[in-house]
Amino acid sequence: MTQIIDGKLISQQVKDELKEEALLLKEQGIEASLAVIQVGNDPASSIYVRNKKRACEYIGIRSLSYELEEGISEDELLSIIDTLNADDTVNGILVQLPLPSHISEQKVLNRISPKKDVDCFHPENVGKLCLGESGFLPATPAGVIELLKRYNVEISGKNCVVIGRSNIVGKPMALLLLRENGTVTITHSRTKDLREVTKEADILVVAIGKPLFVDDTFVKEGAVVIDVGIHRDENNKICGDVDYEKVAPLCSAITPVPGGVGPMTIAMLMKNCLRTIKEK
Ligand code: NAD
Repeated sequence: MTQIIDGKLISQQVKDELKEEALLLKEQGIEASLAVIQVGNDPASSIYVRNKKRACEYIGIRSLSYELEEGISEDELLSIIDTLNADDTVNGILVQLPLPSHISEQKVLNRISPKKDVDCFHPENVGKLCLGESGFLPATPAGVIELLKRYNVEISGKNCVVIGRSNIVGKPMALLLLRENGTVTITHSRTKDLREVTKEADILVVAIGKPLFVDDTFVKEGAVVIDVGIHRDENNKICGDVDYEKVAPLCSAITPVPGGVGPMTIAMLMKNCLRTIKEK
């Protein structure tokens, strides 16, 4: 029988554990705080930002909201980040992406102090991740690892295939699987014979950004399939990169969309936020 990996359930467990941690910190007079910056009012970004603020509220992390005009200049945004970097009462800083095209995302992300970089996008933190040093973990890939661990999926020695090589998901995902001693292959848009590679996977992580791309012809019987994709189909229904109906009967375990990886991302972001205090 296929095990459905329930990200909603696990993310709730993680958030409850964090809530207890935040309470213990409060008893020591320490309150965590996260500055959330949104530029413009892209509706999808507004939903993500709202969910992050809600999670802060639930756990007991103070959230500071910066809702900035679409037309704000890059210099103005950088100067807000400088102020937040210097403010000792702010532990974490998060800039919701994407930014408007007149602002360099790389420049902005690199300006956030590595100590407050809860998204783990700063080159210093990415370098630590590469070297296997302790520090922040990128939220979505860390959420995937947490799901695998809490469902007792063995990673060590397993053939792990990641579809996608983005800086946000694919690359850090591969690094985290490697850290867990998986034998890792990264595939991408130039990979030849993609199916030949993915059919070797014991654990297949799909972060391709194309709705229902992966069907049963990509998957080995008994594989664990993790679907990172999030899309809305023509009926406005949420779906993933994996064709769940076709793939689920083949797998030993699979994440649904919605209710799989998605809820874990915010939970792991909150974990990073509390980590800023422990690492101070
Ligand atoms: P991206 O577009 O930056 O990267 C997609 C990757 O897929 C690229 O590296 C590309 O090489 C690869 N790719 C494209 N076409 C391919 C093909 N035909 N064969 C093999 N590889 C191919 O996307 P991303 O930011 O990594 O996001 C991927 C998906 O995950 C999106 O659906 C996104 O919405 C979703 N996402 C979800 C969460 C979450 O919290 N659950 C977080 C981030 C992203």
